[in-house]
Order: sequence, then C-alpha cells, then structure tokens
Amino acid sequence: MTIESILNNSKELAEKMRYHSDLPSKNILNFSKEAEDLRQYQYEHSIHITEKITPKLYRLFQLVSEKLFIPSNIVEGFVYASNDMQAECFSAHPENCAIRISSALIEKLTEKELGFVIGHEIGHFLLNHVRDLDQSTDHEGLIQKRAQEISSDRIGLWVCEDINIALSAIIKIVSGLRDEDLGRDKLSFMSQIKEVNKDFDRSHLSHPPFILRGRALFHFAISDFFKRNDVNYYDADQIKKIDNRIKRDQEEYIDNFSNYEINKLIENYSFWYVVKYTLQDKKLSKMEQSLIERKFGKQKLKGLINLLSEYSQSELNSFLTQKIKENKDRILDKVPKRFNIIENEIKEFCKENL
Ligand SMILES: [Zn+2]
Repeated sequence: MTIESILNNSKELAEKMRYHSDLPSKNILNFSKEAEDLRQYQYEHSIHITEKITPKLYRLFQLVSEKLFIPSNIVEGFVYASNDMQAECFSAHPENCAIRISSALIEKLTEKELGFVIGHEIGHFLLNHVRDLDQSTDHEGLIQKRAQEISSDRIGLWVCEDINIALSAIIKIVSGLRDEDLGRDKLSFMSQIKEVNKDFDRSHLSHPPFILRGRALFHFAISDFFKRNDVNYYDADQIKKIDNRIKRDQEEYIDNFSNYEINKLIENYSFWYVVKYTLQDKKLSKMEQSLIERKFGKQKLKGLINLLSEYSQSELNSFLTQKIKENKDRILDKVPKRFNIIENEIKEFCKENL
C-alpha cells in the first residue's frame, strides 16, 4: 500500500475541516531537507516520546493518531525543556510528521487539552501546510497562514471532542496558568471580544489573536458534523455558512484597514486603465464621460477633465502609463495572486463597455 492510500481516511477527514479561506497548497515538497535536519536535531537535543521513557505521552500520541485514522510510525513526538508554552510540527516527507512540545505545555495542560494541541499540529501535516513551497508573507500569504490555524484548530477540537477543553487549552496557553487558578466557565473567555477594538490594523499577524481563534472554534462547534463527531453528518452548506461568519470576523478585526487600502489601489488602477483605454482615439466622448462618472464618481471625472486641459498628448500618455504601473506594482506587492483576476476584470469591462 502506498503512503497516500495509508493516509487516505485521515486526509479525507482533515479536508472536511479545512476552513474555506485556507486554500489547498499547489507545490508540496516531496522531501524537505530543512525539516529532516530539524528532525535529526531533536534526537540530539530533545527527548523522543517512546513507550519506555514517556509512557503516558506515548499513549496519548497513539490515541490522537487513532482518532485521526493515522497508522503508527507516522507521527513522532519530542519534548524539550522550556517555560514557553509551545508546540510545532514539521514534516520531512509524506510518511513523516514530527511534533515537538515544550515541557511547560505538558506540565500545565491536561491529557485532553494536550490532545487538542497535538491534534492541531497533526492538522498542519494532514492539510499539507508543512512542506508547502509557498511560504509567502505578503497580504495574501498572511491571510493563508491565519486560515491554516483556523483549519488546524478544528482538527484539534475534533480530537478533544469538547469546546470547553479546547478553550481551556487556549486559556492556559495565553495565560500560562494551571488548573488550580482557573474557574470552570471557560466559555466566558469569549466575552473579552467586546473590548477588542476593530479600528486597528492586525494584518501583519501570522496567527489570528487567540480570542478570534476561540470564536472561530465556537462557530465550528455548533455544526452537526462536529456535534455528532461523525463524518456522515457533514453538511457542506452548513459549514460554508459557518466559514462565512468566521471570514467576516477575520476581516472586521484583522484586515479591515489593509482591505480598504487594497480596494483603493484596485480602484485607482482600474480608473487609470479605463482612462488610457478610452483615450486611445485621443477623445473623451460624452458617452465615455458618463460611463466614467457612473463607475468612478463625479470627482474623478472632474479631475480627469482638468488633467486633459493641462497636459499635452505625449505628456498625458507617459503620465497614464506611469499611474497604471505605480498602482499595479503596489497591488502586486500586496496581493500578487489576485492581480490577474483584477486585470482580467478591468479588461473585460473595457471590452464590453467601450
Ligand atoms: Zn498552528
């Protein structure tokens, strides 16, 4: 049996938990030298989780793997000494998923909470977030990274089976506190959102703030698919509605400002593109004027008419070329993958209307 078919059921289950803004990777490395080096480093500087040295953790890793239909010998676990509450996943090749967990996390989290964390990390492996060649950190790349965290959290939740346990793990990771310091009502953590300001640019973050991750999980936890813990109850429409709610949250709290800026750039690019297109015949007819007014507003049309009266034909040409290039470069800098779609849309618009 090939490794792909060994992991078929695991991947099928994981794909059902993929949040829709988490786009499937196109270029996955078959072998990652970097991950293999990191894996070997663990054998020198961490403790490999085995039945003899760390029996409880070993059984927990087995349990989590079983829950995700992963055969043994695919997931390797390591523990290292650190007060930071951290876990990380890397994968050298399709048959390997290595997870390293800090001692603080193991000391403070219960077994079930650790199940959430291990499930989350395995999620990155099953959804091919690791060994992905595309690790860009532009606006689009960061949206993708944050979306990956939302998908993986769902897989962690699937493993621990209870939103209260997942939230408890999150609360402990954020606060560094132990059980004895925490009350029972974990859901009340969610009310912190009321104080989180939407008028703030968080688009530089590679992980959504924990409060938003908690909210995203909360939305997912009401799906029948999750509540029954059964793939047969997967309802694509229901998950799509949940995903849209989460997307709205992400946009409002994280990308509000940069989306505004990107939309401005697209509008400017489209405007100068349309202007250049209409002026190919060196005229701006009444029909063209009213079209520009309808699409871009009165102010822009007025500005354009002023510009035409001040510039000579050759000056105007190089001015327009410059404006188009300027906006194009800035769009490419922010959303390179989307640029083709933007360009095609405006080309179509010109063809159909002018
Ligand atoms: Zn993660």
